[in-house]
Amino acid sequence: MMEWNIQARAHECGMCERRFEDKDVCHTLLYQEDDELNRLDLCNECWVKKYSQEIRRMPGLVSFWQGVYTVPPPEPPEPLEKETAESILRKLIELKEDEFEPACFILAAMLERKRLFKVKAQHRKDGRRYFVYEHAKTGELFTIADPELNLNQFEPVQRQVHGLLAHGLKIIGVHDEKNPSESMAVETGHLDDGMNPEDDKGGDLPADEEDSHGSGYTNYRGQ
Ligand SMILES: [Zn+2]
Repeated sequence: MMEWNIQARAHECGMCERRFEDKDVCHTLLYQEDDELNRLDLCNECWVKKYSQEIRRMPGLVSFWQGVYTVPPPEPPEPLEKETAESILRKLIELKEDEFEPACFILAAMLERKRLFKVKAQHRKDGRRYFVYEHAKTGELFTIADPELNLNQFEPVQRQVHGLLAHGLKIIGVHDEKNPSESMAVETGHLDDGMNPEDDKGGDLPADEEDSHGSGYTNYRGQ
């Protein structure tokens, strides 16, 4: 069964194994194999030589797109940093508990609104819908299941997400050793995370202006 997960961008081409350098063009293919969504990152040469012509015949292809590889910044030290939608989402995905699927979905939608996440593909599997989001800075792919919440279910999940942002994972019984105490300041800071309820009445997401090459998904579906 497919589950929600995070797939990091490769640091080398999946075919010729050449290491990517900063600002290299990188082609990402998303395909399904043995019930899993896999990603393949390719350098431009391999893409042109091997894939660009045959891509639409690739078995299990879900989506493909072109991006730019950026050298990841050194890990910042993060002592007692306040939780963000992103940090909470990462921790929940790590837990792999089905009960947090709805919270992950809401957090991912918040990150999309902040333009940190970009939808790259939608995928159906066993009657369920999955969104594949790309992290705008790291190129990681986050596969998030659509919990298909109805209005009654939506509110408790949103309350849970509010609570997680304000108090961290201890409210769901998970204690984070790296972040043993939370400061009171966190409680007033949580509106920064896009959790202002007003945001949710806005309706449409902002138009995406950055995606100049268009997503492979759209192109693919257009065939
Ligand atoms: Zn290559």
